[in-house]
Parts: sequence; structure tokens; C-alpha cells
Amino acid sequence: MLALARWSWHSSTVTPDDPALRPDPRRELSCELLDPEQWRTPGTFELLATDPTWPARAGRLWTAHGPVDTPCFMPVGTYGAVKGLDRVDLEAVGSQIILGNSYHLAHRPGADRIRELGGLHRFITWDRPMLTDSGGFQVFSLRGLQKIDDEGVRYQTHFDGSRHRMTPRSVLETQAALGSDICMILDHCPPADAPPAKIREAMDRSSRWAREAAALRGQILAPEQLCFGIVQGGVDLDLRREHLATIAELPFDGVALGGLSVGESIELMHETLGEVAPQMPTERPRYVMGIGTPVDLLVAVRSGIDMFDCVMPSRNARNGQLFTFGGRINIRQSRYRGDPAPIDAACGCRTCSAYSRAYLRHLHEQHDPLYGRLATIHNLYFFHQWVAAMRWGLREGRFAEVERALAAWVSADRAAKASAAAATASK
Ligand SMILES: [Zn+2]
Repeated sequence: MLALARWSWHSSTVTPDDPALRPDPRRELSCELLDPEQWRTPGTFELLATDPTWPARAGRLWTAHGPVDTPCFMPVGTYGAVKGLDRVDLEAVGSQIILGNSYHLAHRPGADRIRELGGLHRFITWDRPMLTDSGGFQVFSLRGLQKIDDEGVRYQTHFDGSRHRMTPRSVLETQAALGSDICMILDHCPPADAPPAKIREAMDRSSRWAREAAALRGQILAPEQLCFGIVQGGVDLDLRREHLATIAELPFDGVALGGLSVGESIELMHETLGEVAPQMPTERPRYVMGIGTPVDLLVAVRSGIDMFDCVMPSRNARNGQLFTFGGRINIRQSRYRGDPAPIDAACGCRTCSAYSRAYLRHLHEQHDPLYGRLATIHNLYFFHQWVAAMRWGLREGRFAEVERALAAWVSADRAAKASAAAATASK
């Protein structure tokens, strides 16, 4: 098992209130500092620092739209927008790269329409890097509306019931039309509760599709578009290692772990990450798809992961959950009705510099769209700051201190959650 005991508080020279842990998430971002004359060939991955204790590392990945400093959190803009935020907001919170969902964009407004409008970057006026998924994960989630065979998957959309086919070729064609900087291949992600034989079957199918994608990418994608392979295998470590060996052999620009955070326990997910991530190729970027919580990001970075994406900061913001360095709060609670303080007094985001908890709670109650925007700005700033602290620690040779301080935050946040749950139960 993963050493959960290590997460207890140790004396540290960096405390959770230390300014070192609260860097401006835009500080020293290569995308803000470097001029395009200094850009390197898309796909170049520079390993800038490693930690002596953990497999953690800091690096820089080059794309056709500039560099991404890693470790890096990628906000999710399903339909080409991180809900409620525009380009200026995203740059202000320190987003280096955003993720778009191919399944959604391919049907609304349509990949060809986006191509005719000059590609996804121009369509949404975002000139920094963009990653798109294959759309496969959404299609495999359409239970009862999809049929998988060895060549691909037939499905009916959840939009209008129209029938379509998705193959290793079609997902690359869609992402070529979108003009994504980083494209993901089609893989088969089974649910966490699938029997072992089904996990093996999905893995073998994913291997065939990966070989097909590796052979096709040169014909379909532009030379500057990167393409990442995806490792499946559930939480079975032997299957994961076997599939990692298959994917690592193929000429992809980066390697991703898929099929995590799909219903398995958090402990098993962390254990799988801790075992598999350090074995991924060191010279290429490593990406875990669809995680996670602040503790998931801590575990991922410690294990040597460079990139991650999750809807959590934006989705949870809209539901009232706001992250602070004092633990999570829920703005819907009545105690914030008369609270003149900002969400987090030490936060540097534009929401905290101007607005009170009382005002945010009021906006939430009135269903004002301004609430979602201000809350998402704060949560994304928190997530970017959380990862910026780890990036700073790795680059400065102080990751162990940062790691201990963030682990202490995790313990405090868990205690706060437990006491909030107990208070609710005793009512
Ligand atoms: Zn804030």
C-alpha cells in the first residue's frame, strides 16, 4: 500500500501559510516570458529538475502554440470554454493549456465547422496550447447507446440520437480538423467494476488501436500536432505494466494513463499511480487523464506525472465548493450570509481581491451567472497555485518541504470534512 502514514504533519521549514507555497501561479511561466523566436520544435520535452526522494520531476513541453511548464494542471473546456471564463480570465489565473472534449465539439458545433472557422484556437481566441481527448471516454460512457467491435465503436449521441461511428482513424481526423496541439488516440476504457477478462480484452483492443493510430498519424495529423498514447489495464499492476511496455514502444510524443478515477477506490487509484507512473518513459511527458482532487495531484506529482486535467475546480465551484489553504468551504452554508471576508484572505485571485463570501453566497442563492464565474476564477487559481508550489519546490530543490506542507493541508482538509459530516449527522 502507499505510505499514507507519511501524510501526517512533520516539522517543516515550509508551513501551509508560507508565501513559498502561495506563489503567483503566473510567476515564471515560460509561456509569458519567452518570445516565439526562442521556441523549440513541437514535441521537445526538457527535463529541468528531478527530486532525490520521490520520482517527481519538473519539465517543459513544447507545442506549436508555445511551452507548457510541468507539472501542469489543465482546466477542462468541454465545448471550447471553461464554463463562464474567457481567455483573459484564464490567463489571469495562470492557465497554460486547456483541454477540449472532441466528442462534444465534433457534434456541437461540428469539427468541420470549426475547421472552416480557422480551427479551435481561432474559434475560441485562445493562442496558448490546447489538448483534446479522443472522445472515446464519452462514447464508452453512453451505456446502452454504443456497440464496440474490433474496428471501432458505433454510437448514438446523447444530443439527438443520431448514429455515428468512431475509429482510431476518425478520432485523429476530428482532432486534425480542430487543430489541437496535443491529440489523444482512441482507447477502450472499461468501467472499474468490469471483470478481469473484460479489462484484458479492452487492453488488447486498445493496443491494436494504438498501433493503428501510430501508423496513421503521419497521414492525418499536421507535423506540429503531438499525439499521445494511452495505457489501460485497470488497477491490475501486471496488466498495467504489460500495456505500458506496449504503448511505450510506439512512437508517441507522450504517454498517458487512462482508466483511472473511473469508480475504483481512491487508495487503489493512488497505489496504481505510485507503482506505474515511475516506470513510464522518463524522456517523454507523462499525463494522467481525468484526475483530480488536490491530494490526487499531490500523489500524481510525487509519482512523476507531469500533466493532469479535471473538471473539479470548475464544476465544484458552481456547486458551492471553494478550495482554500485552510480547507474546503461550501459557500451555500448559512454561516457565510453575513461574512464580509473574502473566500481566502491570502489568495491573490481577482475574486478574493474584491468580493466577500457574503456577496458570493448571495449571488449563488440568486442563481446569478456571475457567481459561477467568480467562484471558478478562485478555484482555478487555487489549483494552479497548488501545482505551481510543487513546480517551484522541484525547481528549487525544496520539493520535500513543499510535499510535507501540502500533505499537512490534506490531513487538515480531511479533518475539516469529517467534522462537517459529523455536524450534519448530529443535526
Ligand atoms: Zn481567491
